Amino acid sequence: MISLKSPREIELIGENARIVANTLALMRKHAKVGVTTRELDRIAEDYIRSEGAEPSFLGYGNPGFPGSICASVNEAVVHGVPNDRPLEEGDILGVDVGANSKGFHGDGAVTIPIGTIGPVAQRLLSTTERALLAGIDKARPGGRLGDISAAIQSVAEAEGFSVVRSLVGHGIGRNLHEDPQVPNFGRAGKGLRLKAGMVLALEPMINVGRYEVEMLDDEWTIVTADRELSAHFEHTIAITVDGPRILTVASPEFVV
Ligand code: MG
Repeated sequence: MISLKSPREIELIGENARIVANTLALMRKHAKVGVTTRELDRIAEDYIRSEGAEPSFLGYGNPGFPGSICASVNEAVVHGVPNDRPLEEGDILGVDVGANSKGFHGDGAVTIPIGTIGPVAQRLLSTTERALLAGIDKARPGGRLGDISAAIQSVAEAEGFSVVRSLVGHGIGRNLHEDPQVPNFGRAGKGLRLKAGMVLALEPMINVGRYEVEMLDDEWTIVTADRELSAHFEHTIAITVDGPRILTVASPEFVV
C-alpha cells in the first residue's frame, strides 16, 4: 500500500530530512583521522535531540540497533555499529542518519573520505553520488519506478562497479520504511507508476567488486562478500508535479 503525502505531510517529513542533512554536515565536519564512530554517534544524537527530534535508528528492530547513526567503514556497506576504532587515513566512512519528530521521519546518508583516499575510492564515492542524482532525476510523475532503478544501475556499471541487490531504497513518512521498495537495479519503463505525493528514500549502495554482501557476527553490519570497498549515499525526496524535490537539504549555516 503506497500512501500519497499531502503538502503538509511533505513539509513535516522535510523538517526531519533537514535535521538529517544538518547531522550529515556535522559528520563531515567532525569525521577526521583519530576520531571514533562512537564519538560521531554522540555528536549526531546530541544534535538531533537539540532539534526536538529523535534518532530513528536508535533501538530500531529487535534487538534494537545500538546507535543513532549507522557507521560503515570501507568494506562495510550499511548498518555498521558505532565503535571505538579510530578512523584512519584513507578510510571511507558511510554515515546513515534518520530523525523523527511530529510523527514523521527523514532519512539520508553520505560516504565521507577520511584524509586522502585512493583513486578507486574517490571514483567510487563520486560515482555513487552521481548514481543517486541520476535516480532522483527520474523521480517524476508519469515515470516508472524502474526508471529510477535503471538510471542508478547504469551510472554504477558504466564505471565497472556493481550494485547491491539485496538492500533497497524505500518509501518514507509516518514510518521509516514504507512501500514501495526501490531497488537500485532494474529496467526503465517497468514497475510502479510514479505519482506526485510519493516520498521516497533513494539509496544506492555501490561496490568496487562483486555485488554479493553478507552480515557480520554482530548481526547488524553488512559487508561486501569479497571485502572490497562499498559506498552509500541517500536522499529523502518528494515527487511533485514539477519533478523531484530533495528534502534532505542542510540549513545554510550547516553548509561548509
Ligand atoms: Mg533508508
